[in-house]
Amino acid sequence: MKILFATAEAGPFIRTGGLGDVAAALPPALVKEGQEVNVVLPLYQDIPDRFRQNMRYLGNVIVPLGWRQQYAGLFSYAYQGVNFYFIDNEYYFKRHGLYGHFDDGERFAFFSKAILEVMPLMSFYPDVLHCNDWQTALAPLMLDLFYRERWGYKFMKTVLSIHNIEFQGAMDKFVIEDVFGIPASHYRIAEYRNNANMLKAGIECANRVVTVSPTYAKEILDPYYAYGLEKILDIRQFKLSGILNGIDTELYDPMKDPALFQHFSVKSIKRKAKNKSGLQELLGLPVVDRPMIGMVTRLTPQKGLDLVLHVIDELMSKDIQLVILGTGDWKYESAFQELAKRYPHRLAAVINFSADLASKIYAASDMFLMPSKYEPCGLSQMIAMRYGSIPIVRETGGLKDSVVPFNPVEKTGTGFTFKTFNAYDMLDAINRALGSYYNEEEWKAVVTNAMNEDFSWRQSAKKYIELFESIE
Ligand code: ADP
Repeated sequence: MKILFATAEAGPFIRTGGLGDVAAALPPALVKEGQEVNVVLPLYQDIPDRFRQNMRYLGNVIVPLGWRQQYAGLFSYAYQGVNFYFIDNEYYFKRHGLYGHFDDGERFAFFSKAILEVMPLMSFYPDVLHCNDWQTALAPLMLDLFYRERWGYKFMKTVLSIHNIEFQGAMDKFVIEDVFGIPASHYRIAEYRNNANMLKAGIECANRVVTVSPTYAKEILDPYYAYGLEKILDIRQFKLSGILNGIDTELYDPMKDPALFQHFSVKSIKRKAKNKSGLQELLGLPVVDRPMIGMVTRLTPQKGLDLVLHVIDELMSKDIQLVILGTGDWKYESAFQELAKRYPHRLAAVINFSADLASKIYAASDMFLMPSKYEPCGLSQMIAMRYGSIPIVRETGGLKDSVVPFNPVEKTGTGFTFKTFNAYDMLDAINRALGSYYNEEEWKAVVTNAMNEDFSWRQSAKKYIELFESIE
């Protein structure tokens, strides 16, 4: 099957979050399963020169956008068996940063249409156009309205992945006609609650809508999670499903990760201890044998930090160490820095973004705390399990789908979970984890189970192929 993966970001070229990771890993995983996959993204100014210098120029086209006629150049770069295509337009993309500009609606409407317009230059008419998030969500509508009659477009299928429903590309509705060029007959498709809404247009028009975990696909039918789109999704439930993301098991490998003090595997778990003492020394914590809880996270309300702060004194009264690495909202950054001063023997907070330290924390900690309010998929809990750090998570989204509650009698399961977004329920889960930690047999079982889980992209790629093939 021919698949074109359309995305606003893709590692290793440029990324700001989870979408960039998926765009880097899923296409090569699909290629390994025998599919023909290309990726297309904007040629942002911030893409490093080392990539730009090796890109190949393929030509240019003019993209009609409402009353505008905009230039789109096309470049390509081969990486891991996948052709990455870059759409060039300096007016839209020669700026710092990816998002957050006043005309983001116009920039990504242009990108969505340019994807369709450059297909002849690519000589690639995909069987499936796989769009991702609001930035490319207009493409299925534009395909139906403007391209179906052209050669090569007639039978093209469309899939829209939602990585986080909070971001919808909602803006003043004047853009629907003026920028998107949508005629009055189809105006309603791109409109929602008196605004233009690009994600909603994608949900209406794509053949399939897929989220990054099965539980999140169900949760977004509920107003608590849906940021206003629950009714639209409810009507389209028949085409909604979820596929859990994978992690890069080559990169996140406790036997190879260069950041670790000591490599280890499920067969040599005892060696993990050296990572704990190494990190304690590095962060100025007492070098003692006591349970260590790690957190590596964006410091935003989504991640449930309010729960941690609410019961921090109770938590600190236990014989544990808490290590937190993160950046984000000032209120959380300062709160954890203050707490590190108040509990110098129990709590270390590093307000920074460091992949090296993140790896050290995954490897050193016994438990990994992730009490998220919502979590479309979440990668950290899967990385933690691979490094033998047992997740303590709220049962939401991808956390629910990737962490199986530990049963001390049967010795099954991979972590400790709680349901309600409540600080004392979280504390209870931590207490249960600590209870098992002090029972050697139970702890060995849960660590072994967690480290033996397979979170490779291969599993996810197979499910995507099934989904693509199921479209009639
Ligand atoms: P989200 O995409 O919502 O931030 P995920 O769990 O899906 O959450 O992915 C977070 C990724 O970012 C993980 O790989 C985690 O290790 C990494 N990360 C988060 N904060 C930091 C940080 N301060 N330093 C290094 N890595 C971080």
